[in-house]
Amino acid sequence: MPKAKETVLEIDLKALQHNLEYIKSKLKTNTKILAVVKAFAYGSDAEVIANYLQNLDIDYFAVAYVSEGVALRDAGVKTPILVLHPQAINFKTLIERCLEPSLYNAKVLNEFITIASQEHQKNYPVHIKFNTGLNRLGFDENEVTDVVLKLKTTTAVKVKSLFSHLAASEDLNEKEFTEQQIKRFKTITEQFSNALGYQPLLHLTNTSGILNYPEAHLDMVRTGIGLYGYGNSETENKNLIPIATLKSVISQIHTIKKGETVGYNRAYTSKDIQKTATIPIGHADGIGRQYGNEKGFVTIHGQKAPIIGNVCMDMIMVNVTDIACNEGDEVIIFGTTTNAAEFARTANTISYEIITAISQRVKRTFLDN
Ligand SMILES: *Cc1c(COP(=O)(O)O)cnc(C)c1O
Repeated sequence: MPKAKETVLEIDLKALQHNLEYIKSKLKTNTKILAVVKAFAYGSDAEVIANYLQNLDIDYFAVAYVSEGVALRDAGVKTPILVLHPQAINFKTLIERCLEPSLYNAKVLNEFITIASQEHQKNYPVHIKFNTGLNRLGFDENEVTDVVLKLKTTTAVKVKSLFSHLAASEDLNEKEFTEQQIKRFKTITEQFSNALGYQPLLHLTNTSGILNYPEAHLDMVRTGIGLYGYGNSETENKNLIPIATLKSVISQIHTIKKGETVGYNRAYTSKDIQKTATIPIGHADGIGRQYGNEKGFVTIHGQKAPIIGNVCMDMIMVNVTDIACNEGDEVIIFGTTTNAAEFARTANTISYEIITAISQRVKRTFLDN
């Protein structure tokens, strides 16, 4: 792996392929795979990741918003794209770019049918989402009949899939609740398909759902975090490889005396003669202030260097008193050494948050061998 000369997020495409193969190994051969590439493919690079996965014959992509789907189409992605949380203002664009909406309440269902009809669509693929316990987005169980009645008034749309989302698939203490969600989804979809008169695809599980509830794989699974190398448990993290490593370099080393302070508001005071290193990455790059004041740490030559004082917009300072290092040396923030889940834990958060937080200012580089 090349040594970093500036702050970079290095993305290992072979690791992505490994993770996909690991997830596939958990599925029956005919189960379809939807890759979730919302939020810049979890902070990596949605266009590169989606094109790479497209060449590995992924069945579907999902993004959160229409603009994210448009970016993928502009980048040459031809695979079907489900838009999980579209807004009606973008429905015309969505149709123009052959994106497929999740319809989750009567308002968006009606609005979409109106626009699809105005645009002279026939059998436009839509995905109906049900709420089975997360209480975030989705039709309620008791709306099945109304939704089907509405769908039968038009030929503009056709239901491609029925889906729902698990609330606590990674938490085995909530197994009972999850099993109830699975059961509820099966009841709803059976009723729906019978009333509709044809059988849409069914999908329910995210990464942890795939790993923990094989009985809920149904026709298709939706994987996000797993593709990027995190499995929401110590065991599963070992089976996956983080695709992104956040690296930087030492810009400057200072030797400071006992009682000197470091950084804004003098938040850190040296207890002895100490050596500090300044690193060109800050809260504007996604390393939030909660990682400062010795919560978070970076790795230099395999050794941990705690972040001291407040995180600045463009820089952090770390304690390198006991580390033999020089200006220009490589620094690893997370990835291959400390993984993002461990790094996130230092600030009481989760892998999802830190990996999606890395701002677009940080250059993305790619490894493919
Ligand atoms: C983000 C998202 C996923 C992916 O979840 P992971 O835990 O990252 O696998 C799946 N389904 C829906 C509805 C989502 O919003």
